[in-house]
Amino acid sequence: MISQNAIETLRKTEIGAQGLFIDGVQVEATSGASLPVTSPIDGRPFASIADGNAADIDRAVKSARKAFEKGSWSRATPAFRKKVLTKFAELVEKHADELAVLGVRDNGTEIGMAYKAEPLSAAGTIRYYAEAIDKVYGEIAPTAENVLGLIHKEPLGVVGVIVPWNFPLMIGAWKIAPALAAGNCVVVKPPEIASLALLRLAELASEAGLPAGVLNVVTGRGAVTGEALGLHMDVDAIAFTGSGPVGRRLLEYSARSNLKRVFLELGGKSPNIVFADAPDLKQAAVVSANGIFRNSGQVCVAGSRLLVQSAVYDRFMDELLQATMRLKVGDPLDLANDVGAVSSAEQLDKNLGFVARATEEGARLVTGGQRMLTETGGSYMAPTIFENVTQDMQLAREEVFGPVLGVMRFETEEEAVRLANSTVYGLASAVWTANLSTAHRMVRAINAGVVHVNTYGGADITVPLGGVKQSGFGRDKSLHALEKYLELKAAWIAL
Ligand code: NAD
Repeated sequence: MISQNAIETLRKTEIGAQGLFIDGVQVEATSGASLPVTSPIDGRPFASIADGNAADIDRAVKSARKAFEKGSWSRATPAFRKKVLTKFAELVEKHADELAVLGVRDNGTEIGMAYKAEPLSAAGTIRYYAEAIDKVYGEIAPTAENVLGLIHKEPLGVVGVIVPWNFPLMIGAWKIAPALAAGNCVVVKPPEIASLALLRLAELASEAGLPAGVLNVVTGRGAVTGEALGLHMDVDAIAFTGSGPVGRRLLEYSARSNLKRVFLELGGKSPNIVFADAPDLKQAAVVSANGIFRNSGQVCVAGSRLLVQSAVYDRFMDELLQATMRLKVGDPLDLANDVGAVSSAEQLDKNLGFVARATEEGARLVTGGQRMLTETGGSYMAPTIFENVTQDMQLAREEVFGPVLGVMRFETEEEAVRLANSTVYGLASAVWTANLSTAHRMVRAINAGVVHVNTYGGADITVPLGGVKQSGFGRDKSLHALEKYLELKAAWIAL
């Protein structure tokens, strides 16, 4: 784990003006324009990123295509790709302190969580796909004797990766690592408010021996660079994590351009269901509080709808309130704090808008609901709980992506299932019960990409992550994600 001393040194590091990373080097944006990078820790600018545009995306895609055609990565032996990616993972681990602090200055995630979830998790993901490269086989089809049917697995070509700001390294690695392992070349569009760690990641990939052009990073505004990537005629696929509205746009861009395939990991309104026979109510309350409030609720799988069975409602709410009050909100670079800053002043305003509407609609505020630590100049929000939430309220239907929990009661298992599934989303969920049969029935009944039982979150790289319904389609993580970046080609050979 990183030490407070190391953090204090790194928090003062000069970052300066960052360029784009194209063809293995840092270059200026074509327009020469830049965007300031403001830290949510204190509201002050501490760096700038290049404000890329469609011409820069085109440069990056051309570089990626040239590298792909050249074949020094796409047609390299699996052993070579494995060696380079393994070295890449080692370098990410070696620079974990630097990457973690850089990322926290950019997006405000508490360092204890960011350190594990960002560089360490990204390194683990890169290593996982490095190790998988030489274990993916083609197939021989069961044909008649006079023919040979072969099924080859080939890289797609140029893959565009578009990432949100909550965990840019972790989520970026979930896409970049399998895409590279499969032999593709990649153009990354980082989130405008948290680009720095991904730029550094690309430099480390280059240092590890990734050939020029195989991994490019173009910073800039989503509506400009993201759109240009989505519309580019020479991009074969887009792997996206972010909001529903932008996901819809990417499908349109694909339809309007070259029908590139699009993988969407979108938002959620995940139900966390506590049955009266939960094995340990206190533990369930602590994990549930963490499951919505860590990283200020800016977690796609956050358990933002809590459903509690009436028989234990009062007891559970007491435990939940206590667990919530124990969470220390403050400077995300102080290891003593449990919850850091909201990623931007705009996001904080948006969260407070949800609080105001929930109050207007008749939900009861149990705790929180306000800004905190305004004297710092940063963006901090108190963990917020509303009860008496009903299905028709905005808080039950829309994703806040902030530290705001809506609580409902239920009586029966059928009612819990109905409430859990009354949403357009289907990303994550959890069930707390000591009854194995209830647990298994709920796993089958809940429409979501993952159902946690007697825990919340915490899945590792071995299991897929992704949603159903309007939470998107396509999966990150596990060997299933590797298949997304491979195309099948059949050979039919007369013997
Ligand atoms: P966002 O959709 O606003 O932005 C995501 C990315 O898309 C950013 O890089 C942004 O610059 C880019 N973008 C913006 N406009 C674009 C356009 N017109 N064309 C192409 N790209 C564009 O999302 P956000 O605010 O960064 O992240 C929060 C959202 O991400 C939440 O909805 C959250 O649930 C979701 N999320 C989902 C997962 C998951 O795995 N399912 C994980 C994390 C976050």
